[in-house]
Amino acid sequence: MSAPTPMMAQYLAMRKSLPADIILFYRLGDFYEMFFEDAKTAAPIMNVALTKRGGTPMCGVPYHAAQNYIARLLKGGKRVAIAEQTSQAVPGKLVEREIARILTAGSIDDLTLLDDQRPNYLVALSKIGKNHGLAAIDHTTGEFIIAEFTESAQLLDELARISPSELLIPDHQISDFSADHPTALPYDGYTFQPEHAHELVKKHYNVHSLDGFGCAGLIAAASAAGAALHYLIHQLRRPCEHLNPPRLLENDKHVLIDQASQRNLDLIESRSGKSHTLLAVMDRTATPMGGRLLRSWLLHPLRDLETLTARQNTIAALLAEPFLLSKARESLKNIRDIERTTSRLSQNSGNPRDLQSLSVSLQQIPALKEDLASVLTDHSRLLTSLHALPDLAHILEIALTDELPANIKDGNIIRDGHSPELDELRSAARGGKDWIARLQEDERKRTGIDSLKIKFNNVFGYFIEVTTAQLSKVPDDYTRKQTMANAERYITPALKEMENKVLGAEERSKQLEYELFLELRQHVITHLAQLKETAASIAEIDTLCALAETAQLNRHSRPKLTEGTELIIENGRHPVLEQTLTETKFVPNDTELLPESSRLQILTGPNMAGKSTYIRQLALITLMAQIGAYVPADSATIGLTDRIFCRVGASDDLSRGQSTFMVEMSETSLILNHATEKSLVILDEIGRGTATFDGLSIAWAVAEHLHDTIKCRTLFATHYHELTDLANTRAAVVNCNVAVREWNEEIIFLHKILPGPADKSYGIQVARLAGLPKPVLARAKSILSHLEMNSAKPTAKSQLSDPKPKTTKLEDSMPAANSPQMNLFDF
Ligand code: ADP
Repeated sequence: MSAPTPMMAQYLAMRKSLPADIILFYRLGDFYEMFFEDAKTAAPIMNVALTKRGGTPMCGVPYHAAQNYIARLLKGGKRVAIAEQTSQAVPGKLVEREIARILTAGSIDDLTLLDDQRPNYLVALSKIGKNHGLAAIDHTTGEFIIAEFTESAQLLDELARISPSELLIPDHQISDFSADHPTALPYDGYTFQPEHAHELVKKHYNVHSLDGFGCAGLIAAASAAGAALHYLIHQLRRPCEHLNPPRLLENDKHVLIDQASQRNLDLIESRSGKSHTLLAVMDRTATPMGGRLLRSWLLHPLRDLETLTARQNTIAALLAEPFLLSKARESLKNIRDIERTTSRLSQNSGNPRDLQSLSVSLQQIPALKEDLASVLTDHSRLLTSLHALPDLAHILEIALTDELPANIKDGNIIRDGHSPELDELRSAARGGKDWIARLQEDERKRTGIDSLKIKFNNVFGYFIEVTTAQLSKVPDDYTRKQTMANAERYITPALKEMENKVLGAEERSKQLEYELFLELRQHVITHLAQLKETAASIAEIDTLCALAETAQLNRHSRPKLTEGTELIIENGRHPVLEQTLTETKFVPNDTELLPESSRLQILTGPNMAGKSTYIRQLALITLMAQIGAYVPADSATIGLTDRIFCRVGASDDLSRGQSTFMVEMSETSLILNHATEKSLVILDEIGRGTATFDGLSIAWAVAEHLHDTIKCRTLFATHYHELTDLANTRAAVVNCNVAVREWNEEIIFLHKILPGPADKSYGIQVARLAGLPKPVLARAKSILSHLEMNSAKPTAKSQLSDPKPKTTKLEDSMPAANSPQMNLFDF
């Protein structure tokens, strides 16, 4: 094999210095090229052609369009290193190249590649002894969160909330993590070592101890924090001075909502589309900061009565002043992403448009402050930390032009009148251009060539063009530069002299504008702390205003929050379904769960009657109340919960390779092991994934345990009619059913919750609605009457009432008449 060319040798050395999974974008003139395995991996993801030169697989993308291609690779979970040319191309000499940056999904700063409504977290995990540590850094905002858990389930739940864009695990603990995090990136185990990690964090924040960050004794969390920092600073070479000190996530301050419950409640994402989520119907925030905060509030509801009451008070105050609320929201709409912009500027990146967006945002603040002064009495700290920075706003306003370029080296950034030196250069350039413009007229007169034109191009600069027909009139002092098809091009010494002046002045003025821009950026950074405070304050103000607006538009009311364990709701509605129903009107329902007399409600009724909707609505109302929001009900009294569990529907979770029943049981066991008297438990059709006897027995035992031992508020929707007997033996079990009417063998759903058990299950009527063939329906009917005739009371309706065709054999689900089941639970 022949020796590689010098350029290839340079490429190979660079490639060798990078971890294998990083794709190297190697700058060659106007292209970024990829070679060998990189090209083979990247070409299909970027959807570009894979070619071969001299047997070497390669592909390339134009540098000016690279961003889109990089975005595709990052989305595909790849990391990208950009090698730029760092010396001028000189014939016969190898161009020098350096890796300018490494881009990864968890560290992108390019706003065009990011969703401004959600944070972009890089997360590191560490396990030390029994403790699971987590560190999450959003490099775009500087947010830095740490947490520590004793159970891996808690860690997984928090990860589901954080939803990291990139996940690091220690390379010496791959076996501990890889099952749950198959796509995580193993990172140098040394960086996770407690002493090393601690030291790095302390050094970064210039502190002697991490105790001040709430890290005392949290070795695993500090280990993750140190590794995440190390990765950003040393592997990705990213500036990290702007990162906030780590903030400890305290589990006992939040209502915990595990992964499955979060999914079942459609909080942030939903199987039926983004608009069918609680976040979507509540999100009336006007700024990206507010959007991100509301999301975080919904994922971390609070247990603290005082904070929640303050939020409610502020919402009430805003609703009492609708004019001020709408004025404040108008101001907020003009406020841009101060948080991400500031953080970019502070890393010495950011362009003139960032400065302008900051300037526009700051200009809104005086009015916002004034409008809200009388309203934010319960949140006066938000006003105090809202800084209008009038001097900075003024400088930015007078310094920047109205139409700014995205590029910092193209000029047109600084307004006339801001810098005398710049004005002078500009006037020199303008004067020269005027002189050149006049030259055309003057020369036409002098030479008598009426077609004479002064033109400009990048190769020759300014020149005089004369058409072939008039060449005879060209004077002697013209020097010919170029011959065209039907014209000649000339220059004169005077024209070239003026050109030098103009171009020189333009060049210098661009350079000066660049320097002035850097000065302005530097000036902005001196206000970093206040800008960060302002961004945080705007986020909260925006979120509170949005909650008030939603409360008003969706007719929500203020719930009464207590430290008790009751849940009393008058005319409650499902916040999401209510907004998405188009043809019918939502039917509101009352609820009364009281600790001594009615803490466990058993809900029976046919499929499609509205059971799931009703029980979910209670979870959602409780959750909304615990972010401080108003709720969709005429009135509500809600004892604060510590956890909300929602196990809804026997949905298949085969993607995780577990059977439906296994998933259902592990989720149920999570509930039984973690629910407390203060929890709210929502269970829908527990035990359906197995044979009738098993399922019923499990459901029964679970209900008893929740009632007798845990004593939490529980809503239990079930097809096991037998469970309604529990009300006879248990003091705080009540039965409810969903009203339906029968009409000519048709069934009409009234969606109204009534006291007492359902009288029958209407399974066959629902099956008809679902389109089961007539002969099957007729056969089912005869089997049902046979069963009913032979039994003292209806049993095992669960299986027969399911509208979906079952894969289980009919015999399995059809208990023989007089089976022992009749008396199984009669005790
Ligand atoms: P179930 O859990 O009993 O099978 P669902 O709660 O899934 O029933 O409700 C079925 C459908 O009935 C919902 O998709 C919705 O369109 C409608 N529905 C449910 N509750 C109501 C209500 N309170 N008001 C109006 N429509 C409702």
